[in-house]
Amino acid sequence: MGLTNTSVGIAAVDSGLVIKKQSGDDKVIAIAGNPNVGKSTVFNALTGMNQHTGNWPGKTVTNAQGYCKTKRNSYVMVDIPGTYSLMAHSAEEEIARNFICFGDADAVVVVCDATCLERNMNLVLQVLEISNNAVVCVNLMDEAKRKHIKVDLELLSERLGVPVVGAVARKKHGLNELMLAVDDLMDKKRQGALEIAYNDDIENAIKMIEAAVLNFPLYELSSRWLSLRLLDSDESLMAEINEYLGVDFLKDERIQSAISTAKLELLEKGIGGDRLKDQIVASIIQKAEDICTGAIIITEKKYAEIDRKIDKVITSRGLGYPIMVALLALIFWITITGANYPSKILSDALFYVQDRLTDIFNALNAPDWLHGALVLGVYRVLAWVVSVMLPPMAIFFPLFTLLEDAGYLPRIAYNMDKTFKRCNACGKQALTMCMGFGCNAAGIVGCRIIDSPRERLLAILTNNFVPCNGRFPTLIALLTMFFIGSMGGLLSSAISAALLTLVILMGICATFFVTWLLSRTLLKGIPSSFTLELPPYRRPQVGKVIVRSIFDRTLFVLGRAIVVAAPAGLIIWLMANITINDVSILNHCASFLDPFAYLMGLDGVILMAFILGFPANEIVLPIIIMAYAAQGSIVEMDNLFEMKQLFINNGWTFVTAISMMLFSMFHWPCSTTLMTIKKETGSKKWTLLAALLPTVIGIAICMLFTTIVRLIM
Ligand code: GDP
Repeated sequence: MGLTNTSVGIAAVDSGLVIKKQSGDDKVIAIAGNPNVGKSTVFNALTGMNQHTGNWPGKTVTNAQGYCKTKRNSYVMVDIPGTYSLMAHSAEEEIARNFICFGDADAVVVVCDATCLERNMNLVLQVLEISNNAVVCVNLMDEAKRKHIKVDLELLSERLGVPVVGAVARKKHGLNELMLAVDDLMDKKRQGALEIAYNDDIENAIKMIEAAVLNFPLYELSSRWLSLRLLDSDESLMAEINEYLGVDFLKDERIQSAISTAKLELLEKGIGGDRLKDQIVASIIQKAEDICTGAIIITEKKYAEIDRKIDKVITSRGLGYPIMVALLALIFWITITGANYPSKILSDALFYVQDRLTDIFNALNAPDWLHGALVLGVYRVLAWVVSVMLPPMAIFFPLFTLLEDAGYLPRIAYNMDKTFKRCNACGKQALTMCMGFGCNAAGIVGCRIIDSPRERLLAILTNNFVPCNGRFPTLIALLTMFFIGSMGGLLSSAISAALLTLVILMGICATFFVTWLLSRTLLKGIPSSFTLELPPYRRPQVGKVIVRSIFDRTLFVLGRAIVVAAPAGLIIWLMANITINDVSILNHCASFLDPFAYLMGLDGVILMAFILGFPANEIVLPIIIMAYAAQGSIVEMDNLFEMKQLFINNGWTFVTAISMMLFSMFHWPCSTTLMTIKKETGSKKWTLLAALLPTVIGIAICMLFTTIVRLIM
């Protein structure tokens, strides 16, 4: 059987998703699955469409549709959001559940990961509880084989009562068989749904409600499943039923009284509220286990066991946090050690070019101001930005992406979940913090993974407390200059990595503190419940990771910094060279800021650099260097230690360096980040708060630190 494919954009109307059929005979197939099981790969292979297009109506969740033709039928395939369950805790789950219940799909294809089928079975069972018109596609059969996991597809099919097809979507294996099974299903639709046996008390309760539910037209919804949902007080589903089918179960007296009686009886047996939910979930898990027992054979237990053993250590109470901190320190250490040398080579090369540019300007008899503005202004700042930023980013990003690819980030979220819960926030905030390490604006967009608006706002408002790559190089440069000095070697980079880790930990503590504070004042509420799933570890694809982190992140971020740095270089040069009453504008501004900056352990130039660095944090250090250099210092800086000399000549001490690092960690977000916050929250008030929070904290910490040190020394 040959498959042909074309793709189509989507059109949406208010009440739901519009399925754009090519002809009236097109059948609609929903493709469901847990996240990361190769659902999009299956969808793309079947439809030939590589782009996700459009959103689900009223949601920020993307939607894609595409066409797929077999010899017998033509289909519209609808990619529904990846979810672990249909119990609707999140927008994704709600969309998936609604589409399966009301989306008029002729069948559902549930894509599963063959390497962790039992976990995937939860979703399969929940789908089958709604409709038997489904095909299970067990994908990643190649990975399963590598891990010595054998899947008995026939036995699974027999136990589930629906076709089960194996596939390797990446190689397009098994997809013809999948569509054959779908074709067969179209010829002979199945009635009914799979029944999961709950304990006797719950079964009685279901029967009680079902008797009342059966008085209503249910279209194709299973009365048993619906009764269970009513028992479980799934109000969002009832609202949807009301909207889609025009039936309001909760207003019906018979149903209401059936529900109250059933709940009362359960309560008498000690099964109320959360216990009921727990028992429902437990029954599903038990059923999943029953179905998989004997159908999944691990011939060599090595891999699954290794995963579990690693998780036992990595997510353990005692070791979880220390391992996280140690890994962070290790990454910093590799970054600092590795960046030193290329940084020096780059800056040598770039400053060599600066000298040659000067030669050219001299040879052309160019006026001094032109040479000053272009070479000493624009070019020099660019050279600093590139040589200080590029090497650490080129090392840090791939390392971080490797951790992400191997599956470590969800473990971080798992470890930090408890602490965030204590702050009345959500564990997923840890993931958005990780994204913030790359770029705070990216971290803030990433907060969309948090479903509760209150918790999302908490995550957005605190994202700036983790330093983005624009601030990392500044921190690293200051540490290297002032704290390792001439020690050199492994020990010194280990010390600076440890110090950097300490600084980052301060940021994390500030995140917890501010989250806690906000959730007790402006953003009161209780944490939402969600289950964090730990995906299996995967061997990272090193080549892909490097390419992705270099192109998607490093060059992107560097490009942005350069675009901002060039005009900033020009402005700062002009400010340093245009004088009013024989004093440069720069000096005027710096003197104006000096008294306040002094209280914070800084000086006017540093504070002004932070203000001018509002478009991008990357340029703060170059601005300081330029400002000092323009004030008449003679140092030709082509390495960090000469730079340190320049700073010391301008009155820097350890206190200045530490205060500068503290303020670098805690001050207003850059303009891009603030614009993103405004866009995501749609509110000027929250955007202002996001700027004020870190700034006030930063000023307070710097003043406190400086005052204490000045009192002691
Ligand atoms: P989704 O989140 O479920 O949509 O998953 P994706 O389609 O994005 O796939 C997740 C990852 O699994 C990607 O890196 C795919 O290339 C990979 N993948 C998908 N199908 C297969 C497969 O059959 N075998 C292997 N080895 N990898 C696969």
